[in-house]
Amino acid sequence: MKRLATCTILIWVALHASGTHAVKAGRVADGQAPPQRTQSPSSDGKLNVIAFGAHPDDCDQRAGGTAAKYAALGHRVRFVSVTNGDAGHQTEGGGALAARRRAEAREAGRRIGIEYVVLDNHDGELLPTLAVREQIIRQIRQWNADLVLAPRPNDYHPDHRYTGILVQDAAYMVVVPNVTPDTPALRKNPVFMYFEDGFQKPQPFAPDIAVSIDEVIEKKIDMLDAHVSQMYEWLPWVADTLESVPKDATARRRWLRETRAGQPTPAVRAVLAKWYGPEKGNAVRYAEAFEICEYGTRPDQAMIRKLFPFLPK
Ligand SMILES: [Zn+2]
Repeated sequence: MKRLATCTILIWVALHASGTHAVKAGRVADGQAPPQRTQSPSSDGKLNVIAFGAHPDDCDQRAGGTAAKYAALGHRVRFVSVTNGDAGHQTEGGGALAARRRAEAREAGRRIGIEYVVLDNHDGELLPTLAVREQIIRQIRQWNADLVLAPRPNDYHPDHRYTGILVQDAAYMVVVPNVTPDTPALRKNPVFMYFEDGFQKPQPFAPDIAVSIDEVIEKKIDMLDAHVSQMYEWLPWVADTLESVPKDATARRRWLRETRAGQPTPAVRAVLAKWYGPEKGNAVRYAEAFEICEYGTRPDQAMIRKLFPFLPK
């Protein structure tokens, strides 16, 4: 499989490097990076951002604040849950739970002004198959994505791990016309980035970009609050804290804010200082951070500033 991928890349370079397409020769020549073209923005100047999570609420927790910032500026964001969440409850399950979670996801997206797509794969049974890889390739192509966000493939939950693998496997393949030919290939490989996580092996998350979400933290909590079956039922049941969930809607939303809005780690704090300057970076209370995946277009500083237009100039 590795030989085949290498071969495909070599053929792709041979076909395109001498022809009509603008391939960045320096980047192709640097060995390990996939071939890539100059990014061309959408005709209206708006970004197309797509994020993948295994379950309907995963993207919200890792990138809900950043998505709210994009939406506020008129950029297009789609969250995709790769499974339908039909196993994530202690007393409900199957089609009824999937329908409930689909409605919760739609409401979460509505609250911050983004699209939310839930793919119909069973929760707890996700595998990195060619069929699911094709679903992800289609999503990225249809969205004409500039930026793709996904989990790293190191995680306690197999659905999370395989979502990371599946999105990695879609990177680069999204530009190959003979792969998933029912959906036109992209003319550019998007930038791919990982969500933050706390896993240490085989290597810890290494943030490249950190976004202050202080001014949208309430929006993010609004989004999480829409996932009633998870935030107030399933996750507290798993953690054996169900008794501590307030019954009243206002009180439980406050409880959600207190229990879910975490503080930046030292590594994220250092990256905040890099992008915002030491003074502003140290003052940030809530942040979301991302690590560049090596398999997509590798952005330079100028491209990162285009992709994250809310970073200070
Ligand atoms: Zn999950």
